[in-house]
Amino acid sequence: MQKTTHTLQDTAFNAMLDHYKKASLRTSGIWLLIANLCFVLFLFGRHQFRLLLDPHADVAIAGPVLDKLSLIFLVFFVIALPVLRFIRSRTPAMALAFLVGLYWAVVFHYMLASDAQQQMVFPLFCMLIFTALIALYPTMPVLYSFIAPLWLSLFIHLIFRDNTIPVLEVAAILIASALFETGRIMLSRWFVLSIRRECDNQLLVSKLDNLAHYDPLTGVANRRQLDNQLEQLIAQTERSGGTFSLIMIDVDFFKKYNDHYGHQAGDSCLVGIAECFKNVVRQPADLVARYGGEEFVILLHNAGANDAAVIAHRIKESVEKAAIPHALSQVSETITVSQGIMQWATGMTALELLKRADSALYQAKHAGRNGYCVAE
Ligand code: GH3
Ligand code: MG
Ligand code: MG
Repeated sequence: MQKTTHTLQDTAFNAMLDHYKKASLRTSGIWLLIANLCFVLFLFGRHQFRLLLDPHADVAIAGPVLDKLSLIFLVFFVIALPVLRFIRSRTPAMALAFLVGLYWAVVFHYMLASDAQQQMVFPLFCMLIFTALIALYPTMPVLYSFIAPLWLSLFIHLIFRDNTIPVLEVAAILIASALFETGRIMLSRWFVLSIRRECDNQLLVSKLDNLAHYDPLTGVANRRQLDNQLEQLIAQTERSGGTFSLIMIDVDFFKKYNDHYGHQAGDSCLVGIAECFKNVVRQPADLVARYGGEEFVILLHNAGANDAAVIAHRIKESVEKAAIPHALSQVSETITVSQGIMQWATGMTALELLKRADSALYQAKHAGRNGYCVAE
């Protein structure tokens, strides 16, 4: 039993984790794309500004290419931004992230070829990876799709540049990468923990909801839920017209049953009877509720007294079919129930309705039990 609960909790947790990861991809993805556009515009503006200040600046290699690349990114941004809203799975997000990463790998390639732009590469690399970390840490595969081309291009470029390994630069990249990875692990642990708490809270709320609205013995609605639904149904039917009916049910000679078979057997009997009621009504439209003790009430939406009588007949048959032995019953060898039916009429309050159904039940008892009466 405990194992089943754990499995259910795990399934709920995994579903919730998946949901929030996808939701975070959509919202943070937009932010990340805009942040990348800002970096592109910064590089573009920096280049234009440099040309304004110094017409002889180093523009030959990297400048014009970077300008063109900025334009390409702008076009990509205009296409990708609306697409991001519709991303529902990880694979397209990974493809998109990889494309942006690849874009920066190309930009790095051209920047590293220019003396004037070289110094900008490492700060830009750091800003890019940490911005991506903030946006994408819940979904590692998408984050790495963005980082991998960036990281590889920089590393390969450094190692194969002049046949000597620039130890300090490689060390700086390794330190930044280590900070990035430890930060990612820490953030994603917090993320998982917060989802776990959210999941636990939701389970707790649903447990409390069950306690507040359902009868713990039979699992059908309790009196509180019945009162709420009855009030709502009256208000709704008064607004929209139509009608509904209510059946009040009482187990025959139940005191004798308890005396003879014991209280625990009495409890099991109530569970079995409630099961019979649930099986004959339309779920979830109609409501089966435990009114108190061995009395139940069934609310039948869009049903007149005649429709309710059909249901009452089915209930009688269903209880008889369950054939729960009752040695001390004076009407049958098995458990039986008596029922009172009342159709709601305009202006009738919940209390009046219940009272009239109770009178009909009283009539059914007097008529010999194991039957039903419709209130006049
Ligand atoms: P009648 O046919 O006139 O309804 O007779 P009755 O014996 O069913 O009526 P009465 O109201 O005198 O007895 C109801 C009994 O139901 C008394 C009580 O012990 C029993 N009962 C009420 N709630 C529970 C419950 O939760 N579990 C069990 N086992 N018995 C209950
Ligand atoms: Mg009773
Ligand atoms: Mg009874």
